[in-house]
Amino acid sequence: MIGLGVGQGRTGLVKLAGIGFYRWAAIVALALCYLLVAWQTADRVWDLGIASLAKSGQRRLNLYVTHLRGQLGKYEYLPELISTDERLIARLRGSPDSDRIVALNRYLEEVNLVSDAADIYLMNRDGLTIAASNWASEPTFVGQNFSFRPYFREAMRGKPSRYFALGTTSLKRGYYFAYPVRDRDEILGAIVVKVDLSEIETNWSGLREEVVIADPDGVIFVTTRPEWRYRTLSPLRGQLRERILASRRYPPGSLKALPVRSSVDRGDGSRVIALELGTTEGRRSESRYYLLQKQAMPEAGWTVYLLAPLEQLQQQVLQAVTIVTAIALALLFLGLGLRQRYKRRMERARFEARTRDNLRRARDELEQRVEERTADLSASNKRLSEEIEERMRTEAELRNTQDELIQAAKLATLGQMAAGISHELNQPLAAIRSYADNGQALLERNRLQEARWNLEQISELTGRMARIGSQLKIFSRKRSGQIGDVSVKGVVEASCAIVTPRFKHIQAEIRVEVPAEQLSVRADEVLLQQVLVNLIGNALQAVDGEAAPLVWIHASIAEGQISLIVEDSGSGIADEHIDRIFDPFFTTKDASEGLGLGLTISNRIVQEMKGTLTAGNSDLGGARFEILLPAAGAAALGPSGLRQVSG
Ligand code: ADP
Repeated sequence: MIGLGVGQGRTGLVKLAGIGFYRWAAIVALALCYLLVAWQTADRVWDLGIASLAKSGQRRLNLYVTHLRGQLGKYEYLPELISTDERLIARLRGSPDSDRIVALNRYLEEVNLVSDAADIYLMNRDGLTIAASNWASEPTFVGQNFSFRPYFREAMRGKPSRYFALGTTSLKRGYYFAYPVRDRDEILGAIVVKVDLSEIETNWSGLREEVVIADPDGVIFVTTRPEWRYRTLSPLRGQLRERILASRRYPPGSLKALPVRSSVDRGDGSRVIALELGTTEGRRSESRYYLLQKQAMPEAGWTVYLLAPLEQLQQQVLQAVTIVTAIALALLFLGLGLRQRYKRRMERARFEARTRDNLRRARDELEQRVEERTADLSASNKRLSEEIEERMRTEAELRNTQDELIQAAKLATLGQMAAGISHELNQPLAAIRSYADNGQALLERNRLQEARWNLEQISELTGRMARIGSQLKIFSRKRSGQIGDVSVKGVVEASCAIVTPRFKHIQAEIRVEVPAEQLSVRADEVLLQQVLVNLIGNALQAVDGEAAPLVWIHASIAEGQISLIVEDSGSGIADEHIDRIFDPFFTTKDASEGLGLGLTISNRIVQEMKGTLTAGNSDLGGARFEILLPAAGAAALGPSGLRQVSG
C-alpha cells in the first residue's frame, strides 16, 4: 500500500498540470536561456551605446567648453583695459564737470556696443555706480549701489574677479568681470563689464542634448532647459542655501535640487542619471535617462555638464531585445514545428506498425480459422459421407428386411390360406370322389345320362378348384414391381375371394360398394390385393362374435385420388393403441392368430405406390381403414354392388 501511495505521489509530481516534469524542466530551461540571452544582449547594447555616447559626448563637451572660453575670453581683459582710462580716475576723484561725466558715460556706452557686452559701469569705493553704459536708458545703473556684490568687494581688494548673478536692476542674468581702478596704488573704485549669458543659451538651444553650466556651489545658471535654471544637481546644505539666497545672486525661491531619481557612476567621471520629468495632474511622473558628463572650467569656477538623452539608446536596446525575442520565438516555433513533425512522423510510423501488426494478426487468425473450418468441414464431410454410407447400408438392409418381411407376411398369409384352401379343396375333392364313384357305378349300370351329369359335376368342380389355384399364383412371385391401372372392383373382389373362405364360420355380411369396373387406380395389383386381404381379414377377425357382423368396403374418387375404405362393426381400435398399430410386431392377438406385421407391411406397400394408409374408428362401431391412391382414370360412381359371403 505504501509503495503504491509513493508511486502515485511521484506520478502526480511528474505529471504536473498534464505536462510531464521533464517538459516543464525543458520549458523553464528554455525560458531561462532566453532571459539570459536577452539580458546579455540588452546589457551589451547598452554598454556599447553608452561607451559610444560617452566618447562623442566628451568630444562635444570639449567643444562647448572651448566655445565658452572663447566667449568669456573676449571680455576677460576688457575691464583691465578700461580701468587705465584717465576719465575713470578723474570721475572717481570726484570731478564735477558734467561734460566730462557725459563723455565718460558715452565712452562706456561705445565700448559696450563695440565689445558686445551687456553693460559696463563704474563704481566708486562705496559701491555706488557713478557711470554706466546704460546711463541714458531706463532703468540705469547710475546711482545704484552694488557694494553687496562679491565681485565689487574682490575688486576693492585689488583683485580682478568674475561673478555670475541675476541683475537686481535689469533682472537679466549676467556674468560680471570686475577690475579695480587704481590711481597709482590707491584703489578708487571698480570697473565692471557685464556679459549677457542668455545668448549662449540661445545659441545652444535646439540641440538634441542638454548643456548645463553650474557655479561652484552646483547651482545651474545656464541651461538649455529653462525649467532647470537656478536649480541644483544635488541638494544644497541648508546653511549654504540660505547664504546664497541672501547674496541675492539668484531669484528668491530657487535652488531646489533637480529630481534625480537614480544615479549610477560609470567610473570614468560620467554618470547615468534618471531625471523625473514634470508631473502632470493625474499622471504618474516619468523618468528620463541621461548620460551625464562634466568638465570643469577652473578659470571661471564653473562646471559644464553635458546631458545626452538615452531614449534612442533605450530604443536600440528595446529593438535588440525585440530582435532576440523574435529570433527566440522563431527558433521556438521552428523547434515546435520540427518536434510536431517528428511526433507526427513517429505517430504515423507507430500507426502503420500497429496497422501492419493488426493486419498480420487478422490474417493469421483468418488463416487459422479457415484451417480450423476446413478441418471441421473435412471432418463433418467425412462424417456425413460415413453417415450417408451407413444410411445407404441401413436402407439397403431395411429394404431387404422389409422385402423379407413382406415375403414372411406372404408366407404367413399363405399359411393362413393353406388352411382355407385345403378346406375349400377338400369339399370339391370329396364331391369329385363321390361323383366319380357315382359315375363309375352308373356306367356299370349303363345309366349313361346320369353318369354324364356326374362327370359334368366333376368337370365343374375341377374348374372351380383350378380358379382357387390360379389365385394362389399371385403369392408365388416375390414382387411384381409393375405399377399399372388396376380395376378397384376387380381387386376388391379377388381379395374377398381369397379371404372369405377362411372366415366363413363368422357368417359376416361383406358389403362391397365399389363403383363400376372403370374406376381404376395406379397400383401394383398383387400388392394392393395383399393389402386388402390383410385389411378384410383383420375386419372379419374383429367382427367375430358380434351379433350383426358387418364388413363394409366402399370406394370413391375425388381430386384424382381414389379412396378405398374398409370398415367393420367390431369393437374398434383402443385409443392407446391407435398410434402403435402400424409398428412392426404390434398385435393384440394371440400368437397363433397374428404376428403384428400385417399393417406394417400394408402401410409400406401403400407408401411405395405413392399413397397413404390411415386408421381410425368407424361409425359402425369398429375400425376404419382408408387407402388413398392416385386414380388411373376418373369415372363417376356407378351403382353399388353387394356381395354376401356364402357358406
Ligand atoms: P395381426 O393381425 O397379426 O395382429 P396386424 O398388423 O394386421 O397384425 O394388426 C395389428 C393389430 O391391429 C391387431 O392386433 C389389432 O389389435 C389391430 N387391428 C387391426 N385391424 C383391426 C380391426 N379391423 N379391428 C380392431 N383391431 C384391429
